[in-house]
Amino acid sequence: MGPSQVTEVTLPAEADAVGEPLGRALDLLGDQWTLLILQSVFRRVRRYTELRTRLGVADAVLSARLRGLVDARVLDQAPYQDERRIRHEYRLTTRGLDLWRLLVGIWAWERRWIPGRADELPKLRHLSCGNAAVPNLGCGWCGELVTLSDTAVERAPDVPVVAAMPARRFRRQGWERASRDPLLFYPQTMEILGDRWATGILTAAFLGARRFANFQRELGIGPSILTERLRRLVDMEVLRTAPSVDRSGASEYRLTAKAKAFFPMFAVLVDWASRHVGGDTGLRVLHRGCGNTLAPVLCCDRCSQVMDQREVRFTL
Ligand SMILES: [Zn+2]
Ligand SMILES: [Zn+2]
Repeated sequence: MGPSQVTEVTLPAEADAVGEPLGRALDLLGDQWTLLILQSVFRRVRRYTELRTRLGVADAVLSARLRGLVDARVLDQAPYQDERRIRHEYRLTTRGLDLWRLLVGIWAWERRWIPGRADELPKLRHLSCGNAAVPNLGCGWCGELVTLSDTAVERAPDVPVVAAMPARRFRRQGWERASRDPLLFYPQTMEILGDRWATGILTAAFLGARRFANFQRELGIGPSILTERLRRLVDMEVLRTAPSVDRSGASEYRLTAKAKAFFPMFAVLVDWASRHVGGDTGLRVLHRGCGNTLAPVLCCDRCSQVMDQREVRFTL
């Protein structure tokens, strides 16, 4: 079934369990094809056939992902005339447009932290000041720049970190075709956002977990899976091991600078889920500086102004 057919859209039931909106947002967005489709639509590749050509993706996969994005009201369909047939193109809804901070954040993180990516990825031009720019996380209330250490993450009691996150579809193999276009490949981002245990471990670490036992309790995860994922995150230099501060002989897992630089994506996802998914995320990211719930904005590193989605362009 192609998207040119008009399909009845049934809206998903709104979540009511506390903590579920973030799980649902991650279930939707923690998928490489979904992120690549969104990135394409942001770059004005809107038609089914254009998306298929650009991504080199199978019809079944593309149709399923587009349907998921339409059902989640991130995309909607608008008719256009193609010779004698009416077809549909995909447009970002308000909810979809609001994801630009996530996509730009991923671009910036990969460019800064993954060796070789700075040369491959396009530059981001901030049209307001005319400079090639890098976005920094800022607080929409007070305008200050914000890092992980300027925040406090509060959560409602008994909110599980990943219980609401179903298993992901990400597989490490099979991306060779897409990798010809450097913008079409986010391997390390997907190692984190595309795997619920990795997302959960990082989220737990942002909430202060450091010990193996802390992660195990937070995630309800089997020790062998936890060991494997922690090792993988250490290999990626997202976590590092250090001797425990209480000298018990146990080691701790600490966030590296690379992991702390991933915090904007977490902040944007929590904000997006709380505003657009419906229901209580159970998580609140506070900006200590002004005391407000962080309203994540991206600030231009060159002119310091808050960036607007309409004022940024990727240029090769
Ligand atoms: Zn603030
Ligand atoms: Zn600027």
